[in-house]
Amino acid sequence: MTLAPISFAAAAAPGESTRTVTGTLPTGAADFVYLPVEVPSGVREIAVSYSYDRPAVPAGTPGNSCDIGIFDERGTELGGQGFRGWSGGFRTEFAISRGAATPGYLPGPVRAGTWHVVLGPYQVAPQGLTYQVQVTLRFGDPGPAFTPNYPAERARGRGRAWYRGDCHLHTVYSDGRRLPEEVAAGARAAGLDFIVSTDHNTSASHGIWGPLAGPDLLIVTGEEVTTRNGHWLALGLPPGEWVDWRYRARDDAHPRFARQVHRAGGLVVPAHPYCPYVACQWKFGYQDADAVEVWNGPWTYDDESALDAWDAQLAQSLRQGRGWLPAMGNSDAHSVPQVIGSPHNVVLADDLTRDLVLAGLRSGRSWLAESAAVQLDLTATGHGRQAGIGERLTVPADAPVDVRLQVAGVPNGTVRLLTDEGQLHQESLGADGSGTVLWRTTASLASYVRAEVRHPLPDGGPGRGNTMGAALPWGPMAALTNPIVLTAERG
Ligand SMILES: [Zn+2]
Ligand SMILES: [Zn+2]
Repeated sequence: MTLAPISFAAAAAPGESTRTVTGTLPTGAADFVYLPVEVPSGVREIAVSYSYDRPAVPAGTPGNSCDIGIFDERGTELGGQGFRGWSGGFRTEFAISRGAATPGYLPGPVRAGTWHVVLGPYQVAPQGLTYQVQVTLRFGDPGPAFTPNYPAERARGRGRAWYRGDCHLHTVYSDGRRLPEEVAAGARAAGLDFIVSTDHNTSASHGIWGPLAGPDLLIVTGEEVTTRNGHWLALGLPPGEWVDWRYRARDDAHPRFARQVHRAGGLVVPAHPYCPYVACQWKFGYQDADAVEVWNGPWTYDDESALDAWDAQLAQSLRQGRGWLPAMGNSDAHSVPQVIGSPHNVVLADDLTRDLVLAGLRSGRSWLAESAAVQLDLTATGHGRQAGIGERLTVPADAPVDVRLQVAGVPNGTVRLLTDEGQLHQESLGADGSGTVLWRTTASLASYVRAEVRHPLPDGGPGRGNTMGAALPWGPMAALTNPIVLTAERG
């Protein structure tokens, strides 16, 4: 949907010129409403502010909520070149000039031509959404250009080792309240080796991270692609690259944008697939995914749903001989008191570089930890061979396979060992939170084995194993592994 254009054709430099438009969008308005702005030459800065009404609605009815962003004279084509920034519903105003821009927006030339302010009315009350948009052009010398400072693609690693990283983090460059320097400091305080920056729908922060990375902290550039049918993480985007989000599952555009990320060596990871917020549930399937975020922030019931759905896919993928989808856990931390690194991924990588960390995540050589205080090691040994997390152990069908799990940092925790048959072993840790659990199976009995470590239930109980009841049977997750796959050798 495109509105009538705002024209500044008659505006004369110097000084500034402002135009205001108002209108009302009905319920059922398009996902994105485009307001053309005819920008003349000689503009130093374009500034936009907006507001909308919030009429009272009955309980259970969504009230008004409207996002905003802007495309420049290069156009609004899906996946095109014209993107200049997005602030969702987080800001009421922004400005762009050659040398600077409001966080979330891309500094650069303000060229003559038709720009488009984009409104995203994602909730419209029954009464409609009445908006006002004000555009100000300031004329004059454009000043010096902005120089992006991208983070290095490697840090000082320890060679082949387990590295801890949170791959879903927000800053003031989208709807977080933390500055990038606060996120970097929080990652260091949480004992992380790497982070991925995933502000919603914009690459604007990529050029800010350079001086905040260091030998002790790898910072990888990414984006959270926030569609109306679910969110996904584009991890390892080339610095400055942007992924469009203006599509739904019905539009068949997702494979194209997943390919864009794959071509660049990045990962496509559906985020919080069962989050109950409007437009947050994942509706694109998993054919284009490299992993799935089964644990998002503090452990809640939607994480249980994601975990169950992921586990069900594991068995199916192995039966079909396809690659299985690794699980990931990230904090999705936006602001205080959300804790950076809770949870995070512990990844086996050959070194601390962008490509090697992404390779470890892609292969599922990783486990998920609530914090750096939790330590874990899982192996399966049989017929003189051994495999670790994310690896495959091939043994004679009935040869004994010894599963060994070592845990520390989960006082009174409950260890669960699960296979394609469900939970087959449960054991409690002591008050010191550490222990070693041994369990024996075979490749004919189990096509994979994975581990969960849970905190006690609110009443202090360990959890109720293979039972049913009205209450959730388990306490919150403390750690969760990707599977070790067991394959019976052909005799
Ligand atoms: Zn999200
Ligand atoms: Zn997020």
